[in-house]
Amino acid sequence: MNVERCCKQVFRTGWGGNNCTRKGTVEVNGKWYCWQHDPERVKREDKKRYQEWKDKNDASNAVWHRRTLEREVCQDVSTEEIEKLGAGGLLRMLLYEYRR
Ligand SMILES: [Zn+2]
Repeated sequence: MNVERCCKQVFRTGWGGNNCTRKGTVEVNGKWYCWQHDPERVKREDKKRYQEWKDKNDASNAVWHRRTLEREVCQDVSTEEIEKLGAGGLLRMLLYEYRR
């Protein structure tokens, strides 16, 4: 019986590329792919990885943005004043000024 093999080249240590040894389960444009190298699955995985990377990146950008704002808010206030007022006191004072 002729079993179609996955057409994907995989790289192993040593002598360069080999064909993937898994059985083909999906046929795309006359080529066979195993479950792992199924182009649709690869595309889905890439998208998932990109989304995960993006979410993480968005989160750290948000933290960075927040730090920048905090620094700007406090840049004209001396450390002694911040210590005297306490961070909460300073913020309440600023919000009170702003909302008036
Ligand atoms: Zn494969």
